[in-house]
Parts: sequence; C-alpha cells; structure tokens
Amino acid sequence: MDRQAAGTSAAAATRALREAAGLKTVVIGGGVFGLAAAVHLARLGAAVTVVSAGPLGGGASGRSLSWLNSARRRSPAYHALRMAGLERYRTLSRQVPVSAAWLRFDGGLTFDAEGPDNAIEAVARHEWDIGYEARFLTPDEVAAEVPGVDAAAVTGPGAIFNPGEGWVDLGALIAHLAAELRARGGVVLDEMGPAEPVVTGGRATGVVLADGRRVAADRVLVAAGAAVPRMLAALGVEVADATPLACLVRTAPLDHPLKAVLNTPRVAIRPDVGGRFVLDADWTEGSISPAKAGSYRIAPDTVAALLAEASRVLSGRPVLEARSCGIGPKPIPGDGQPVFGPVDGVAGLSVAFSHSGATLGLIAGELLAREMVTGRPEPLLEPFRVARFLARRPSLLAGSGAAGALAEM
Ligand SMILES: Cc1cc2nc3c(=O)[nH]c(=O)nc-3n(C[C@H](O)[C@H](O)[C@H](O)COP(=O)(O)OP(=O)(O)OC[C@H]3O[C@@H](n4cnc5c(N)ncnc54)[C@H](O)[C@@H]3O)c2cc1C
Repeated sequence: MDRQAAGTSAAAATRALREAAGLKTVVIGGGVFGLAAAVHLARLGAAVTVVSAGPLGGGASGRSLSWLNSARRRSPAYHALRMAGLERYRTLSRQVPVSAAWLRFDGGLTFDAEGPDNAIEAVARHEWDIGYEARFLTPDEVAAEVPGVDAAAVTGPGAIFNPGEGWVDLGALIAHLAAELRARGGVVLDEMGPAEPVVTGGRATGVVLADGRRVAADRVLVAAGAAVPRMLAALGVEVADATPLACLVRTAPLDHPLKAVLNTPRVAIRPDVGGRFVLDADWTEGSISPAKAGSYRIAPDTVAALLAEASRVLSGRPVLEARSCGIGPKPIPGDGQPVFGPVDGVAGLSVAFSHSGATLGLIAGELLAREMVTGRPEPLLEPFRVARFLARRPSLLAGSGAAGALAEM
C-alpha cells in the first residue's frame, strides 16, 4: 500500500487504517519509542516484530530521570507535542490503575541558581501566558506547599511549582507495553545484537539481524536510541547528533516525604518505585569515561558529590546511598529538537530519535504508527522531520526527492 495509492486525504487515511491488517512492520529498538510505536502499530492491525540489540529498556530508557513535563520555554510546536504526551500519560493512568506504582502526577518544582542568569520569574510569567499550570513560590511557601524540600536550599528569587507534572518508570512502562504487544500477537526479539534495515531499490524491505537472518517488512521504524545517527548515516542520511554520556544514580530506599520531581541548579531528583530516588545532573557528564567492552565508568567522587547535592535540597538532609549508576548515551539530536517520521529517500523507512523520550514516548509512538500505516503526515510531527538536516545537503535531496520520500510512503 503506497502512500501515493492511499492518497493524502483524511478519508483515504481512514481507509488505509482499516486495511492495515496484513501490513508487515519491524521496529528496531526496544526503548520507549520502539515499544510505544510497536503497540500502536499492533492496535492498528499491523503485524509487528520488535528487534532489540539489548534487553528491552536496556538503553537510555532504563536510566532516565523521566520527568514528564513541558516546563520553561519551547517552540509552540514542541510545547504542543509535549502537552499531548502528558495527556496520553493521564489517559494511561486512568485506564491502567496498576500504573499508580510507576506513573505519578505529583508535580515538579524548579528553581534557578542565584545570580544574573536567574530567570525563574520570567519563566513563570511565560508559563502563565501559555496556560501551563504554574505556581510561583517564595522559599518559605515552598516548605508549606512541596513536602520534602529544604526551603533553605531554594534560591532567593523563588521557585515554580508545576502541579500537572509527573514522572514515569520507563522500565515498568516498557514491560507494560511489551505485554500488550505480545497479547496482540506482536513478536519481540530482544538481546539479538545489532540489526540493520535492509533497503532495496530505495525502499525498506526489512531488517537483517546480527546472525544474518532477515525479517521482511513493508514498513521499518528505526528507534535505536543513540545508534540512530550511525544507522541513518549508513544509508546516506545525516542527522546531527549531540548525544552526551550521562549517568543516573539510583539511591537505596529511604523513608522521605518528597513526592514531586525537583529540578534544581545542581541536581535533579525524582522519587522512584520502591521508595528510592533517582538523581541526575549535567555537570557529572565530564567525569564519565569509557571502560571495557562498550561500558562506562564514573569517578566515585562525582557520585558522592551528586548524593551530597541531593541531600542538601531535601528536608532533613537525609544520608543518601547510591545503589546503582546507569551510565551511557543520552540520545539528543544536534539541534535539540526531536526527529520523527519518514526518512527522506528511503520509502517505507521511519525514524524516532529524540531527547525527552519519556515525555514524548506515548504520543510519538501513536503518531508514528499512524503515519506508517496511512502514509498521511501527522501535523504534530511536521516540524520535526529529518529533512531539516538534509536542507544542508541539497545533492541528497535532489537524488531522492525530499517531498517525494514522504509522498512515496
Ligand atoms: C540521564 C537521563 C535523563 C533523562 N531525563 C529525561 C527526563 O527527565 N524527561 C524525559 O522526557 N526524558 C528524559 N531522558 C530522555 C529519555 O530517557 C530518552 O529520550 C528515551 O529513553 C530514549 O528512548 P529510545 O527508545 O530512543 O532509546 P533507548 O531507550 O536508548 O533504546 C534504544 C534501543 O535500541 C536498541 N538498539 C540500539 N542499536 C540497535 C541495533 N543496531 N539493532 C537493534 N536494536 C538496537 C537498544 O538495545 C535499545 O533497546 C533522559 C535520558 C537520560 C539518559
């Protein structure tokens, strides 16, 4: 079913949705984007195989702060997509009550460092202007309104509390999605080593596994996290990459009243399943170095300093103990914006490559799946196409027809 045949009208797209049964799809990647898209493909009636190099959730999704938010300044298009992402989580939390253990909407608290760059008041005004629920709190008010925060650590200009924000444990979400996928007849091939899309005559025709076996497909989604830029480069498609190495520290369980996600100048903290906290901070990235066999290590002093920063902003200054450090690439496109949708020049091939994959996972999976089945561009994804990188390489566009790549799907 070519998109040309399907046409672009909503009616044609609806027809295509009904005809999805029998469409063979393969998703490369067992992270949140891969599983969310796979479940939506299966719900639309497509046959789905997920192929993952490592275990499901073994990439960035397994070591994510996963704060669900659209805080601070974003383009209107990016804000709209994130808000739709948050809405999908609210629906999930209503439909799947068991998710209460791993999906919470207890709000988020943010404050900036002291000094001339402190923008917290302007950010609050911006959030009010766009209707993003935000309360501006003085340090004293924080103590009363956000249990678990040491008000003395909040900087003078104050803090923003966003009551509609939350967090998700992506490992639990991925397990939930994988269970639905299997129940719908989907196949999960995990711990398979690296796979690659097979492209024949300008069209994706399937995936070749590390052991040489092939899985045929009419549509292929590359959702391989940090491996995406390399995989697309092998097909002659460049996506700018700004992926850093990052570390997520999980603490031992402790009895503490913090429920909100905290975003502070020196540390981000969120509650985790089992009464633990997870901690993250950009400044730790410089202390990460490669270890053996593709793994990484972080200087123990850095972990100790991160625990101390976290303790400093928590009420009662608890002693925090690190139980694990998840270290590895944090997928981020070069311009910081998501990359979603058809890959120019390769009909039938789509991509998902983005930061904020916790916030965006469910909505991106839903929209990507519908595009893959119907060929009709989803307006919410239009600002986030691969083509913006190709604009710098007109020869590639001329060879493949950038508009044509979407039009051929
Ligand atoms: C420290 C940290 C903090 C974060 N904080 C937030 C936050 O607060 N809010 C938010 O919304 N997001 C946050 N993110 C981002 C979010 O976690 C990621 O955007 C998201 O998890 C990416 O999911 P993914 O499916 O693209 O990739 P991954 O989860 O990395 O999954 C990639 C999958 O592809 C597989 N794979 C790789 N190569 C191949 C291959 N060749 N063949 C087959 N399979 C392959 C891997 O085995 C893996 O299963 C954070 C991330 C990190 C690391």
